[in-house]
Amino acid sequence: MKDPRLDTLREHGLVGMGGAGFPTHVKLDSSVDTLLINAAECEPLLRKDNVVMQTCPEEVAAGIRVAAELCGASRVVIGIKAKNRASIAAMASVAGDLFEIHELGDFYPAGDEVTLVYELTGRIVPPSGIPLQVGCVVINNETALNIHEALAGQPVTHTFLTVSGEVRKPQTVRAPIGVSFRELVQHAGGTRLKDWVILDGGPMMGRIVTDPDTPVVKTSSGVIVLPTDHPYVERELRPREAKFRIGKSVCDQCSLCTQFCPRYLLGHPLEPHQAMRQQFIIDFPAHSRWGQVCCECGLCTLFACPEGLYPREACQDSKRSLAALGEAYNGPSEVTVHPMYDHRKVPTKKLLMRIGLSRFEHDAPYTDYEGGRGPLRIRLDQHIGAPARPVVSEGEQVRRGQLLARPPEGALGVPVHSPREARVEALEDLEIRLS
Ligand code: SF4
Ligand code: SF4
Repeated sequence: MKDPRLDTLREHGLVGMGGAGFPTHVKLDSSVDTLLINAAECEPLLRKDNVVMQTCPEEVAAGIRVAAELCGASRVVIGIKAKNRASIAAMASVAGDLFEIHELGDFYPAGDEVTLVYELTGRIVPPSGIPLQVGCVVINNETALNIHEALAGQPVTHTFLTVSGEVRKPQTVRAPIGVSFRELVQHAGGTRLKDWVILDGGPMMGRIVTDPDTPVVKTSSGVIVLPTDHPYVERELRPREAKFRIGKSVCDQCSLCTQFCPRYLLGHPLEPHQAMRQQFIIDFPAHSRWGQVCCECGLCTLFACPEGLYPREACQDSKRSLAALGEAYNGPSEVTVHPMYDHRKVPTKKLLMRIGLSRFEHDAPYTDYEGGRGPLRIRLDQHIGAPARPVVSEGEQVRRGQLLARPPEGALGVPVHSPREARVEALEDLEIRLS
């Protein structure tokens, strides 16, 4: 019989806080031998995983206990980078016989789910597969905290995120969903820059947003202010056609993008230099298959390619094109780790130097967030699954934690709740505006 706590997690809006936001009640409705807690803080410049562990270790441990019970895991391992001593000490103080701590090296992408499973268990998730296939479930440490809070009756209405880059007081806050990036930048002392953009997330898998009024969603993890004319920003904002035009004329097939690809090094049939060929050779499906199992970590584009080309984007294109053709992955399911796996790990420091963001490597200590009293924009499509549908009306007064919207009956997804007492100002296509 299904554990009723899974319904509680769904009703309280739980999704994974370390990535795309997969509904937690679905992930934990499984039977595995090992639960892995991702506390790698994989993306450079972000500090939120460490703040969560250092500010609420007991609550994180309580959530881990529930998660292990739900998925039946007899072994629990938390992955924390060895350099984060304070977090290791905080979690060691509550570990008891509940979980082991695995100290990870400071490389990127230590927190990629497939990499983490290998580092912590020695098991290789099959290409195009998920950790469940090798007896593992992976959740983020903030998700564990949210599990504990949900069972205490508190829905997910806030998220930990780091506000950093060119701001006067870099900090990590627990911000209400719906608050604007602009407000968070002001809370961090504002910026001296005249022309700036925001990196939503970390530099490797985040996206540049030019609208500072973009709202925070449950999966937001970073608000990094960068100068508009920074080479990293200019490179990321280059139009897609230009990226491909340059790739077509410059790629010399040196294959360094493949040699450093973490999934290739785990033995997956992923060779971005071959995916690049789809741009200049008319044999589209054959070459696209070499990009099909890419996790879009960005290492090939932002670190490996000596010509500054875009192999990740070639793989993204490959995946989309094959999906449009209905072509599923049909390569090998059993693979072997490359002998150079350990020797080609990319240190985070080196990566930051390569992308020119080392000067933003600040501390971002936890700071109480007292803002969020102004208008809030609550997105209804803020995580994986069907967009939620409003259950409130314009003009209605709502309480903190009140249900605002829920996914259609039977669809994958979770409800969305109000972060504070407010008035429903407007119901829009994919957004509820609160004042
Ligand atoms: S994309 Fe860059 S790294 Fe990859 S083969 Fe071409 S030149 Fe080499
Ligand atoms: S983005 Fe590049 S390095 Fe990362 S998994 Fe995809 S092909 Fe490999």
